[in-house]
Amino acid sequence: MLDGLYQEIILDHYKHPHGRGLREQFDGEAHHVNPTCGDEITVRVNADMSDISYDGLGCSISQASASVLHELLEGKDSATIAEVHRAFVELMQSRGAVEPDEDVLGDGIAFAGVAKFPARVKCALLPWMAFKDAAARAGVEVGASPEVKA
Ligand code: ZN
Repeated sequence: MLDGLYQEIILDHYKHPHGRGLREQFDGEAHHVNPTCGDEITVRVNADMSDISYDGLGCSISQASASVLHELLEGKDSATIAEVHRAFVELMQSRGAVEPDEDVLGDGIAFAGVAKFPARVKCALLPWMAFKDAAARAGVEVGASPEVKA
């Protein structure tokens, strides 16, 4: 269903997740569930975004998305986080109409193919919505609206 190279990137993040595992020091935490697929994600963040930790279970898309989120956002300043978050949400809601910018999204471009499948969009966005909530609880407004237009 997905372009071969994109699928390879997603499977690589799924098999070798970056930064997976919850850490005890955090300012905000959120747990999100995607009942249509059975995905679960818990995200913890520090207020200064020096640490973003997560754990979860579910399909390759949801878990790879969490790994990509960690890679793209951890340690970044709030302006960069807001920009990347907005770009990823926009890509996922585009139904394939938006050409992803690799300079902004890095491996996140691999989810461009997923955007064409509404049921899987929820999988890909799950960690990003959990991150937004965790950040808000840590006092950081990420800004992008993650509501999925189904
Ligand atoms: Zn899923």
